[in-house]
Amino acid sequence: AATVVSGRELARQIHKEVQSDTAKLVAQGNRPHLSVILVGDDHASHTYMRNKARAASLLGMSSSTIFRPSSVSQEEMLELIDKFNRDRSISGLLVQLPLPEKDVDGFHIVNIGKLCLDQRCMVPATAAAVWEIIRRTGIETVGKNVLVVGHSKNVGMPIAMLLHSDRNHERPGGDATVVMAHRCTPLPRLKELASLADIVIAAAGVPHLITADILKEGAAVIDVGINRLQDPVTGKLRLVGDVDFEAVKEKAGFISPVPGGVGPMAVAMVMKNTVTAAKNAPTY
Ligand code: NAD
Repeated sequence: AATVVSGRELARQIHKEVQSDTAKLVAQGNRPHLSVILVGDDHASHTYMRNKARAASLLGMSSSTIFRPSSVSQEEMLELIDKFNRDRSISGLLVQLPLPEKDVDGFHIVNIGKLCLDQRCMVPATAAAVWEIIRRTGIETVGKNVLVVGHSKNVGMPIAMLLHSDRNHERPGGDATVVMAHRCTPLPRLKELASLADIVIAAAGVPHLITADILKEGAAVIDVGINRLQDPVTGKLRLVGDVDFEAVKEKAGFISPVPGGVGPMAVAMVMKNTVTAAKNAPTY
């Protein structure tokens, strides 16, 4: 049976590291501050925002959230972001996605550009979470076959970018042989690719997409998916990933659960990025 990788436990490790870095920065009069801009009333976005604000305050950072209705104009959003970027008291800024009907993803272009050139950068938190889970669990990537299921620009793509790139570059990569599957990948092909993979990263948002029968014995399975399913017995909503956890646990070498896997690690990586931003901030 697989080692169940606890994202909660690994997130605790990162939180400890971030907390000690934060204390040092506070002693220098530079308390990291995370600002979140939240647009509209998407329930999940409010939950993610609260998790990050709680983590920030537990770690000794300050944080603030600015709420805007979904009717906010693109112009006002860009002005807000520009104002916050110039505000020296703010170290980290994030716009909680999804934005209702708006895409201001463009402001990530410099970071994504650096990420793709293997330069040091702010790695998107979910991809960074997957990377740290693999590193801290000691899962080998060099020369291994990795299947990333999902090719979105903020999740699947940056995960694939980290894992395929060169380990000796400025922003070290995993030197794995990476294949990406997505909604146009025929199911038989997905199964074939999964059967060859030493590491499977599921980020499709499709419950039970990754079943035990399609996996290689001993594979490492990292589940990024977050799906809300109604329990047929209790009628209650519960969170599941993209992986058939109970069956896959018996066949895989490592597995990260949902909840308690990538989710808490992604929050921890936002905290780590905020501290990095505070460290890199120019001192006046
Ligand atoms: P998205 O909807 O933008 O992308 C989904 C991707 O999955 C697409 O590339 C699509 O082609 C692919 N896909 C869809 N159906 C498929 C199928 N049947 N077979 C293979 N590929 C398929 O979503 P996203 O933003 O990339 O997020 C993916 C999942 O990860 C979602 O469930 C989301 O809730 C979750 N997520 C989790 C975290 C976290 O912190 N744990 C963060 C972000 C997203």
